[in-house]
Amino acid sequence: MKVAFFSTKPYEKEYFDGLNAPYGHEFCYFEPRLSAQTVAFAEGCGAVCIFVNDDGSAPVLKKLSGMGIRLVALRCAGFNNVDLKTGLDLKVVRVPAYSPYAVAEHTVALILTLNRKTHRAFNRVRESNYSLNGLVGFDLHGKTVGLVGTGKIGLCTARILAGFGCRLLGYDVYQNPEFTAMGGTYTSLEELYRQSDILSLHTPLTPQTFHMINAQTIRQMKDGVMIINTSRGKLIDTRDLIEALKHHKVGYVGLDVYEEEADLFFEDLSNRMIEDEVFLRLLTFPNVLVTGHQAFLTREALTGIAQTTLQNLSDFEAGKPLANEVKA
Ligand code: NAD
Repeated sequence: MKVAFFSTKPYEKEYFDGLNAPYGHEFCYFEPRLSAQTVAFAEGCGAVCIFVNDDGSAPVLKKLSGMGIRLVALRCAGFNNVDLKTGLDLKVVRVPAYSPYAVAEHTVALILTLNRKTHRAFNRVRESNYSLNGLVGFDLHGKTVGLVGTGKIGLCTARILAGFGCRLLGYDVYQNPEFTAMGGTYTSLEELYRQSDILSLHTPLTPQTFHMINAQTIRQMKDGVMIINTSRGKLIDTRDLIEALKHHKVGYVGLDVYEEEADLFFEDLSNRMIEDEVFLRLLTFPNVLVTGHQAFLTREALTGIAQTTLQNLSDFEAGKPLANEVKA
């Protein structure tokens, strides 16, 4: 099938081209995002393949439908950017799961870097500065880690941290027996905030979890707590987080996601002026580490994303049931 591939990045193209032979799809790669301005690029294709920041709003979908396109294949798990209630004859598929290890391992990388300050040590040593002042960390062994969300990624993170000898607390609307089997203890959110030395977020973004980390919940936490978010930016009220950093209430922050990341992440903006003052303030703290939504970026995850998407496209083309279809 001929597929218009929007928001193309070289690291994804490599995997889709490399794995496509048995599926035989024809990809038309476009760098711009799907939007009302770029939708015409899809003319003559049978499907579009899109990512987290492409525009799947009703007007764009209507145009796609008018061009005879019947499938939107998301190459990610989230589908909040696609309007599922248009009533158009248009199927939407996604990649519900790929490597949870990728995201869990990046979560632990953020914890270790913030704690042992290897990012600062790297720069010092390159300048022949072997002073250890300011590099004091803490043993992870024996520290209490609170995991909000113990699904696929939360559980993987818990398993790694159990290996460090951490005490694991969990909060989830669904209690996973695997978490308790590895020694974790479920508790209330209030108790988890009260006891955790490190707090790591692994829930989806929903109306219930929007800005769950805010001034009022931060007040319940330990002084000097480390907060890690590799889930979705809007789980944290960034302005409240900055206030808590300024008052030394929060001791460390590791973020792979940011609430206004759509205007920043995945692009090289090094020649432009960043206008987001909140984001810029965040970057001024020495105890804040931000990565640009790269937790998923491993060879294994990219392979999984490409394989599932290629299969989704083939199933649609063959008129088979769509295992990964998302509906309103
Ligand atoms: P999952 O569905 O396996 O687990 C999510 C867990 O959150 C579930 O156990 C669910 O019961 C729980 N949950 C839902 N609502 C909750 C609430 N209100 N309070 C407490 N718990 C709640 O998902 P996953 O694969 O573990 O992914 C977790 C998150 O990681 C996703 O939201 C996704 O957005 C994010 N993610 C980020 C990246 C990245 O590159 N940074 C990559 C993949 C996924």
